[in-house]
Amino acid sequence: MAIPPAKMELRPLGNTGLKVSSVGFGASPLGSVFGPVAEDDAVAAVREAFNLGINFFDTSPYYGGTLSEKMLGKGLKALQVPRSDYIVATKCGRYKEGFDFSAERVTKSIDESLERLQLDYVDILHCHDIEFGSLDQIVSETMPALQKLKQEGKIRFIGITGLPLNIFTYVLDRVPSGAVDVILSYCHLSVNDSTLLDLVPYLKSKGVGVISASPLSMGLFTEQGPPEWHPASPELKAACKAAVAHCRSKGKKMTKLAVQYSVAKKDISSVLVGMSSVSQVEENVAAVTELEGLGMDQETLSEVEAILEPVKNQTWPSGIDPK
Ligand code: NAD
Repeated sequence: MAIPPAKMELRPLGNTGLKVSSVGFGASPLGSVFGPVAEDDAVAAVREAFNLGINFFDTSPYYGGTLSEKMLGKGLKALQVPRSDYIVATKCGRYKEGFDFSAERVTKSIDESLERLQLDYVDILHCHDIEFGSLDQIVSETMPALQKLKQEGKIRFIGITGLPLNIFTYVLDRVPSGAVDVILSYCHLSVNDSTLLDLVPYLKSKGVGVISASPLSMGLFTEQGPPEWHPASPELKAACKAAVAHCRSKGKKMTKLAVQYSVAKKDISSVLVGMSSVSQVEENVAAVTELEGLGMDQETLSEVEAILEPVKNQTWPSGIDPK
């Protein structure tokens, strides 16, 4: 018999009617993009997440060249719970082979994703990292194609993702109201970069749900450090490493502080943390439980913010027209 899920805060996702857990399970690590992950560990991590009240799972065909979707599909199937008990997002337009946001490709892409995920539908289909495509194509060609997929019942809601924040305003100002249900921003709501917060009033005015990914700044705030492909400058990497070391010297964990920092922002519906093991899931859920009870360690947060001050809001170029 399934263990009843522990209580984790559920937050409304824009106008979708969905209620997503304040921490979502980022499945890119299941594609072994931060290091190898065994299938048993991946399946166990998904189960632990669900048992602890995480109901939102995010993946993409791009992560590990389809491996993440396959692993997540196995993990979800092994739960043996009704499909409506969990919310799944995947993406289209970005692949190991490159970018293609054409109507033809994204229409084919969802069928491939559903097969790998072993699902009949996904709750959210995002256009993945749209700054690498033509934003006008996203507006005029990709969005109408995704609306058709909605009508066919293959997807319930539509999202867009990417790094530069101005891509969201560009698209949302040009599509009909309600055409984009959610946005997924990453690396712009963490202790080192909080620029997403400036965009929240605009996103709210558009009725769009806000998902924020990578509170650990894609590994910058872990003991293991970032993967080799991490695009941050050496200066930013060094400052984050110093923040991690400072926490360690006080017997604290930077990962806990960073997850709490993002989840504390209630306007964000869900914070996606990449997780690949039962212990990471347990640690991150415990961080949120502690946040709800005791609040944050403000003293350590202030010290870490001081260390990161010289690189505050520093980002990196992304896309074909990097600003
Ligand atoms: P992240 O900041 O969540 O960091 C992930 C890394 O931290 C992984 O190596 C993970 O194993 C490790 N980790 C997690 N919890 C830990 C803990 N308690 N202790 C030690 N290490 C821990 O970065 P991310 O995975 O890139 O982002 C989260 C998710 O958001 C992704 O998996 C993906 O689903 C989504 N995402 C989407 C986009 C996009 O659409 N463009 C971009 C980035 C992330």
